[in-house]
Parts: sequence; C-alpha cells; structure tokens
Amino acid sequence: MILFANVNKWYGDYHALDNINAEVKRGEVVVVLGPSGSGKSTLIRTVNRLEEIQQGQILFDGFDITSSVMGIELNRLRSRVGFVFQQFNLFPHMSVLDNVMMAPVKVRGLKKAVARKQAMDLLERVGMAARAQHYPGQLSGGQQQRVAIARALAMEPPAMLFDEPTSALDPEMVSEVLGVMRDLAREGMTMMCVTHEMGFAREVADRIWFMESGRLVESATPEVFFKQPTHPRAQRFLADLH
Ligand code: ATP
Ligand code: MG
Repeated sequence: MILFANVNKWYGDYHALDNINAEVKRGEVVVVLGPSGSGKSTLIRTVNRLEEIQQGQILFDGFDITSSVMGIELNRLRSRVGFVFQQFNLFPHMSVLDNVMMAPVKVRGLKKAVARKQAMDLLERVGMAARAQHYPGQLSGGQQQRVAIARALAMEPPAMLFDEPTSALDPEMVSEVLGVMRDLAREGMTMMCVTHEMGFAREVADRIWFMESGRLVESATPEVFFKQPTHPRAQRFLADLH
C-alpha cells in the first residue's frame, strides 16, 4: 500500500534517507525504531509530503505521490493519509467537536449534520464524546492526542502515520493513547508508527523497521527483532533499553 522504492533524501550534503526500499502492506502495522537522528521522522513525513525526496519513488496504492502533484492533489493526498504528531496540533480556538468536524465539512464537503454525527461517533470511539464542547486548552495531553486521532480519522484515511504521539505525554496518559492506536490496528488500519513504546511495538506491530544513519538496516517481525536482531546497531539499541 505504501511502497518506498530507492528513496533518497538529502538535507544539503547530509544524506538523510539512504536508498530506502520497503513496503507497508494493507492492514499492516509497521513500527519504525532507531536511534535519534536516524531518519525516522524524515521517512514518515515523506509519505504525506511534509518532506520532499530527491530520488526514488513512493507509491501509495500504486499512485506515485512523489511526482509533482500540487495544490488540490496534495490536499487529496493528505486527506488519504492521517497524521498524528508528537506535539498536539488541535486548533486552540475551536471546540473538540469543531476540530473533528472541520476538515470533513471544508475538504470533503459533508453536510454539517452528517459531519457532526460522524464526529460524535469518532469521539465516542476514542472515549472523548463527553468532552465534545470543551476547548483543547481544557484537556489533558492524552485527551488532546485522542481528539487528534479522531480528527485524523474523520477524513476516513486508508492509512495513518504516527510520529511519537505519546512522547510529550505524562506517563499515566500514554496508555490511553496507545489503547486507541491498538484498537485501530485491530480494526485493520494500515499504520506506520514511530514510537519508543517497546511494549506497543512488540504487541501491535506486524513488522519492525530499524533505521540507522538514514538507512533501513533491518526489517523483521517483532518476534525475530526483539529476540535476535541481525544488525549490530539493532542489537546495541535493544541492549541499551535494559
Ligand atoms: P528522533 O528520534 O530524535 O526524532 P529521527 O530518527 O526522527 O530522530 P530525523 O528527524 O528524521 O531523525 O532526522 C534525521 C537527520 O536529518 C538528523 O541528523 C537531523 O539532524 C537531520 N535533519 C532533520 N531535519 C532537518 C532539516 N530540516 N534540515 C537539516 N537537517 C535535518
Ligand atoms: Mg523524530
């Protein structure tokens, strides 16, 4: 579903993505691991073109997203790939409900009543329906992240990207967000997640991708990766966790 073919990216002279070849299959959950600065965020951000690549191709459902699509096409792409970041990115001046309804009304042209019903269903799903009329500033970080997930889902994206969605949260709020992500995975959502939550990686991932210095050096099932990673850097990474 998301295919990286000979993907290369440079920041100036720095080779940030070094010939990435890999595929996230439909319904699969890929967790991207690797040391700080290895290119995890850069890789995930190429999928909705928050980062441009200089060489290679990224195919989404067979469609080359790296060919020079602009404007409306770019918006369409972004509506097909939901994205949740580390920092909460809700609109602070809008209620929770309006945050979730906005894109479906503005981009998909849904009638307000329809969008409201859909938004309430999504808020129910992430356990935030009771807070529909609250503003983001009145919510905890974990609650804001759950609303951010509901907002991304409101565009009915076939795939979701997560870049460390829990790393800015207090520990007690991490599990509520991971729980929503786990539910999504069980429902068959195609997901690419950067996270430091090894429990989640072990339990939910279908595959682990391990990056080092812009290269994807290992791709394995969690069973294999956590037991006997082949790449020395991955072995060291796991040893450092203990
Ligand atoms: P972390 O775990 O700390 O989030 P990461 O694996 O997500 O790290 P990236 O953010 O993808 O790493 O960065 C990969 C490399 O590219 C780093 O060396 C970083 O300094 C560099 N880099 C990232 N963004 C830029 C930029 N806009 N300009 C120049 N260099 C950048
Ligand atoms: Mg990062």
